[in-house]
Amino acid sequence: MSTTAAAIAVLAGLALLLGGLIAAISRRLGNREADAVERLNAVLPQTQCAQCGYPGCRPYAAAMLAGEVDINRCPPGGEATIADLARLLGREPVALAPELQGAPPPQVAVIDERRCIGCTLCLKACPVDAIVGAAQYMHTVIEAECTGCELCLAPCPVDCIDLVPRAASVPATGRLPAPTQS
Ligand code: SF4
Ligand code: SF4
Ligand code: SF4
Repeated sequence: MSTTAAAIAVLAGLALLLGGLIAAISRRLGNREADAVERLNAVLPQTQCAQCGYPGCRPYAAAMLAGEVDINRCPPGGEATIADLARLLGREPVALAPELQGAPPPQVAVIDERRCIGCTLCLKACPVDAIVGAAQYMHTVIEAECTGCELCLAPCPVDCIDLVPRAASVPATGRLPAPTQS
């Protein structure tokens, strides 16, 4: 092998090595970021209500990690969640954003089962599988699972789903804070 060919082979080998190293570092950084998002997401209430301005808890967690949004935009979580987020991010707790302080209390969906035609459209729309039912049979909402996100309302062709305040007696799944008594 000529000297030039040997030099090219060495350079190609180095380039391959460097590429592999960069890919490994990127993978590792990506995993770390995903883990950090999961840790933040784990302290959010998982109601997927979008009051934070993001389509769900995980996107809000990702935005917080990226520094795009403050830690005080989750009304269902309130002060306890802000304190958890502050601890995880090494920041000082802050008050809930003023524009979110009058947020409505937690709600749940209720299906008027006499009018339900069993079309299953609400069932497909529910992001947390809080609706049970089968085609041609009435559907019903598992109140403890419902996050009050309203996503099932629009698809219902007979408009038989309403949102009502979550009753204090409804057992929480652990994903929702206990309702505040006014
Ligand atoms: S529970 Fe909180 S973080 Fe989750 S979607 Fe609702 S406001 Fe956003
Ligand atoms: S409001 Fe409707 S779509 Fe949203 S969680 Fe409750 S049952 Fe599911
Ligand atoms: S969308 Fe309305 S009619 Fe269809 S199954 Fe759900 S509640 Fe019943």
